[in-house]
Amino acid sequence: MSDCIFCRIAAKEIPAKVVYEDDRIIAFDDIRPQAPVHTLIIPRTHLASLNEAGPERADLLGHILAKAPEIAEIKGVKASGFRLVINTGPDSGQDVFHIHAHLLGGRKMQWPPG
Ligand code: AMP
Ligand code: ZN
Repeated sequence: MSDCIFCRIAAKEIPAKVVYEDDRIIAFDDIRPQAPVHTLIIPRTHLASLNEAGPERADLLGHILAKAPEIAEIKGVKASGFRLVINTGPDSGQDVFHIHAHLLGGRKMQWPPG
């Protein structure tokens, strides 16, 4: 989608600090970090949110989860710990409608989140 900012980052039309990429996903640092490490993991395929993904995307969604520890390792927080967040829909505060997992780390997290 040409008007989607994350599709444009995946296509390298908009610069980003890329941490990891393969044929299905790309991870890049969040422009407004909420923790010392704040990286976004997105599929290259445009999907507006988890609500639109469906079971047929299980492999792709699983790939995001499976790669998170490797991306956390690159960012130096695999051992210290990290949190993955996928905001979905209005109450979550989702702002960008291209599925993304926030990988947050480098400080103690609060639970429950606000
Ligand atoms: P969400 O509220 O879950 O939709 O999160 C969207 C995230 O995308 C926010 O944390 C933003 O800071 C981040 N973001 C928006 N535009 C960019 C960009 N051009 N590069 C990196 N991160 C971005
Ligand atoms: Zn997109």
